[in-house]
Amino acid sequence: MTRKLFYEDPNLAEFSAKVVSCEKENDRWAIVLGATAFYPEGGGQAADVGTLGVIKVLDTRERGEEVVHFCDAPLDVGTEVCGRIDWAHRFDLMQQHTGEHILSGILHARFGYQNVGFHVGADVMEVDFDGPLTPEDIAWAELEANKAIWEDIPVKCWFPTQEELPNVTYRSKRALPWPVRIVQVPGFDSCACCGIHVKTTGQVGLIKILSCVKFHQGVRLEMVCGQRAYRYISGVFDQNKQISQMFSAKILETAAAARKVSDALAAEKMRSATLEKQVLSQIAESYANCDNVLHFENDLSGAALRELAEQISHRCSGVAAVFTGEDGRYSYCLASKNQDLRILGKEMTAALNGRGGGKAEFQQGTVAAMRGQIEEFFDK
Ligand SMILES: [Zn+2]
Repeated sequence: MTRKLFYEDPNLAEFSAKVVSCEKENDRWAIVLGATAFYPEGGGQAADVGTLGVIKVLDTRERGEEVVHFCDAPLDVGTEVCGRIDWAHRFDLMQQHTGEHILSGILHARFGYQNVGFHVGADVMEVDFDGPLTPEDIAWAELEANKAIWEDIPVKCWFPTQEELPNVTYRSKRALPWPVRIVQVPGFDSCACCGIHVKTTGQVGLIKILSCVKFHQGVRLEMVCGQRAYRYISGVFDQNKQISQMFSAKILETAAAARKVSDALAAEKMRSATLEKQVLSQIAESYANCDNVLHFENDLSGAALRELAEQISHRCSGVAAVFTGEDGRYSYCLASKNQDLRILGKEMTAALNGRGGGKAEFQQGTVAAMRGQIEEFFDK
């Protein structure tokens, strides 16, 4: 049986212990020590990684009463080894996990909801609850959770005795047989959990809920705690600072400034669409009573190109061929209200290194040709 130092002192990052066994399993060595501070995966908390002497601990798992360290090299049985946990990794997980407890406890006490899913991802943590929450509920719960941090309450973890257990109230998805490990944030949460938590709520630092979406009968929250919350909010602040400088707006008034610019842009788009329509019909009008028309126009969108070809074809008696682009690459539309353009289209793409197609009265595509070559083709 491995002595679980992580339960005796959650802040223990370095320890020494004797190697009890070492066996090769696939491409790794499974090493068991007399005692360990490496937490094996469990209770929604990821496994610790780190080093044993000079070798790497890639994963840690519980196997019966033993904690197995999966390592990249072997160790001699009977030797004493120094274990070092990747503390940044572990502390991050402790902050996320404890933050999740605080929030879950608050939502449970206020709404009676259970935490029915919990996953710590690389960037954010997902927590699922079995009931709906409004934006106001979320804002309230987030503030309450941060108040618990400001109070810097000691987190209490212990295994109640068989006699004591029936008198302990705790959140749990199902009835648990003794022994049960209880994790309490007095005044905020009491929960059965085997994970590792920070010593006081102050170490969680900060809790920020990022989103809330409907999930099954309840909701899924995305949240960040501690260093993650600090990094996230710093990133958001940096972006907002850039926006505030761009719009010469106060940092807490960027949304109104952005909305103003966005509204102005939408109005400009409408105005330029109206102007473009007028210009296109003036161009088309200039070809009234012409036979075949070849027209080049700079910078037309796909829609405007089609529109112009259509309009010209309604005014001229032959084929309207409209090109936009630059030497080497043009987009085209051919339109006619009385001629089948399929053969002309094929001949043109063959002669001008192009591709395209369409209906009898309308062809479109691109050509890789110079303006002179296009004019020469239509001159024939
Ligand atoms: Zn926990």
